Amino acid sequence: MPLRSALNSQRSLILTVVVLLGSGFLATSLLSYYASRASIRDNIVNTELPLTSDTVYSEIQKDLVRPILISSMMARDTFMRDWVVAGEHDPEQMTRYLNEVMNHYGAYTAFFVSDVSLKYYQAKGVLKQIDAKEPRDVWYYRVRDMATPYEINVDPDMANKDNLTFFINYKVLDYNNNFIGATGVGLTVDAVIKLIDRYQQRYQRSVYFVDTFGRIVLTGADGGPQGAAIGQLLSSLPGLNDLQDKLPRPQGGSYEYEAQGQDHFLNVRFIPELNWYLYVDKQEAGAMGHIRHSLYLNLLICLLVTLVVLALLLRVIRRYQRKIEVQATLDSLTGLPNRRGFDLLALKAMQDAQRERKPLVALLLDLDHFKRLNDNHGHLAGDEVLAGFANDLRSCLRQSDIICRWGGEEFIILLKDTNSDTAYTVAEKIRLLAEQHRYSFSGTPLQVTVSLGLTEWLSNDTLHSLIARADRALYRAKQAGRNQVCTEAALSHAE
Ligand code: GH3
Ligand code: MG
Ligand code: MG
Repeated sequence: MPLRSALNSQRSLILTVVVLLGSGFLATSLLSYYASRASIRDNIVNTELPLTSDTVYSEIQKDLVRPILISSMMARDTFMRDWVVAGEHDPEQMTRYLNEVMNHYGAYTAFFVSDVSLKYYQAKGVLKQIDAKEPRDVWYYRVRDMATPYEINVDPDMANKDNLTFFINYKVLDYNNNFIGATGVGLTVDAVIKLIDRYQQRYQRSVYFVDTFGRIVLTGADGGPQGAAIGQLLSSLPGLNDLQDKLPRPQGGSYEYEAQGQDHFLNVRFIPELNWYLYVDKQEAGAMGHIRHSLYLNLLICLLVTLVVLALLLRVIRRYQRKIEVQATLDSLTGLPNRRGFDLLALKAMQDAQRERKPLVALLLDLDHFKRLNDNHGHLAGDEVLAGFANDLRSCLRQSDIICRWGGEEFIILLKDTNSDTAYTVAEKIRLLAEQHRYSFSGTPLQVTVSLGLTEWLSNDTLHSLIARADRALYRAKQAGRNQVCTEAALSHAE
């Protein structure tokens, strides 16, 4: 195969292996990554977040829904209504009542504000007078004018060291449905905030409540999504502003959105008792981080395996290439270099001789009447003799000498650092050894003689001119009756 096309086919083999391995590894890694991602997403959306939502909801119910019931009961209480309608005569009665409610139900505070006297009653007595100009009292006027029977309000409680408190503000109506005041209980939101914090830390998800106006009403101690504070509108937060329009009201659902380059899963649940939405939000990075990490690890391993396979492949190719190269320059029958191998060795020997100014002699050999031997004993016998004769040649020569099977039953030898006298002796030795050797084939002794042409290398010789001269010498040896050595050109030895 020509060198260029061999190189091309090698390159395309390597490329094919790389593409096959690469695409195979990539496909399986990505497939398993996307499968795990889908199952994790599924788990988050269908199990994890709804479960958190359920737990927070039941906790909230315990903490908030019960106070609503208590407040509703207070607003309908005949004692309260009668006492107000009768003119609020004995404040002691009202404070006792509020104290009873507070202690019995474990509320943080219980209150009543009269619309007639504008007095703010609580368990310890009359706290103050409500004033429309006082910002802290705005709530009362809001409750008075609202259409719904009650509201939930998160405010600092003046009576309780300004702790953040949930107030259930219930409208109290007389028997003719006229507004006569507001009552209810208050409780600190510490328990709910602690629960939210616990969830946020333990499960790396963010839990917060949003009212029907899209305002954050309750978060953990560290704030809501993206650090948002209570009172902030969801629509003012990046990522959530678009989502806000999609949220179904008043039902909840599962959503996904992106904020600050992070994917989020969101479970929204409507809590009708509070008229709030409970949001449970989980960042994808926390959940997907480890599978993304294992994808990178996977890809790295695939890359390493591909590189190792590639290195092994290259090594095998190189080894075979070297083997093929050696085989291409060797004759399989005798194990001697063939013409191709000889050309390289001969050129180098001639360069060495030139540089070192040392003599070099060429011997061209041809077995005599070899056709006859083949005809008489068969081709296999001829092969046996050729291989045996090649061994004889080796035994007569030094390691440094160059021997080659020139073709058929012809051989060529280059004797380095050897003058023609010594070369003639070597040639005679070869000739004699062949003549005396009995090669055995299937028990039959076979004999062969050899003719040799000898010529010394001249510094202006090419390989071609050198061999042509040796060939002339060989021709003369054949002409002269074979089984002899002939010398050609200006060499000192006569035939
Ligand atoms: P001469 O003395 O003039 O050289 O006579 P020859 O018969 O040796 O000469 P010729 O070149 O006519 O014949 C060479 C023969 O060598 C013919 C060919 O079949 C035989 N031969 C060439 N290569 C091989 C080989 O690899 N194995 C065998 N068995 N025979 C071979
Ligand atoms: Mg021949
Ligand atoms: Mg011959």
